[in-house]
Amino acid sequence: MNRKIWVTYGAEMLREAGIDNPDGEAWYLFSHCFSLSREEYLFSMTTPVEEGEELEQYKALLDRRISERIPLQYLIGTQDFMGYTFRVTPDVLIPRQDTESVIEAVVEGNYPHESILDVCTGSGCIAISLCLMLKPDVCIGTDIDEKALKIAKENGRRLAPMVKFKKSDLFSGVDGCFDLIISNPPYIPTKDCMELMPEVKDHEPMLALDGREDGLYFYRKLAGTAPKHLNAGGTLVFEIGYDQGAAVKTMMEEAGFSSVEIKKDLAGLDRMVIGTLA
Ligand code: GLN
Repeated sequence: MNRKIWVTYGAEMLREAGIDNPDGEAWYLFSHCFSLSREEYLFSMTTPVEEGEELEQYKALLDRRISERIPLQYLIGTQDFMGYTFRVTPDVLIPRQDTESVIEAVVEGNYPHESILDVCTGSGCIAISLCLMLKPDVCIGTDIDEKALKIAKENGRRLAPMVKFKKSDLFSGVDGCFDLIISNPPYIPTKDCMELMPEVKDHEPMLALDGREDGLYFYRKLAGTAPKHLNAGGTLVFEIGYDQGAAVKTMMEEAGFSSVEIKKDLAGLDRMVIGTLA
């Protein structure tokens, strides 16, 4: 069997198992196991595939994807975000396309950004992308979880060594003030966590998903304390769930933020709230 037939075979298995984007995922798994770029694959689709380690690994990953519902990104160990390749493990949330909308809005908004703080940094995808795109003087990412920080640091070393990563429970370990504070905190109400798709609820870190009782716990905490860590005229940016805009906007206004705006993602859903400290 040639390469193309193996990819088609994988796609069929994934499709039968009800996995979204079976063609794309089969290709990603195959190219990962055989270390092929898109071009190399396209020019060698008819090359016969020999029995061996690579093929065994491909079959094993297909099986784990299907029987254990492990997300593709944890199987291949990476996720692209804003054009950069991030290493991911089950210790960090997989960077989402929705979050790219937040990054784009921040870059387009042209807010003061000499110093940036990313709270609940996870893989570090927000801090690292903003650092590479906005070139601040200071860029810090914090997380409560040491295992997540290890991955963030590894991504930072490879992509943007000037980003500092620090263990902190929200602002507890943060000193000083910043021009821009951003956070994509856990925001799913506890009771909804068990309804998530198996890829998410069984494999992504619950610590990164569970926003407690009403899903708003972390926004409440962060909005209340952020003013102490923002320079005058500084900006607070939250990624939010599609139905949390009004509640988070009110919280920010009550905490003293002005011109608080709810903005949408590419799907047209409310995805972020941005406000300025007067
Ligand atoms: N900031 C990280 C991300 O956007 C992690 C978010 C989280 O763990 N809730 O991917």
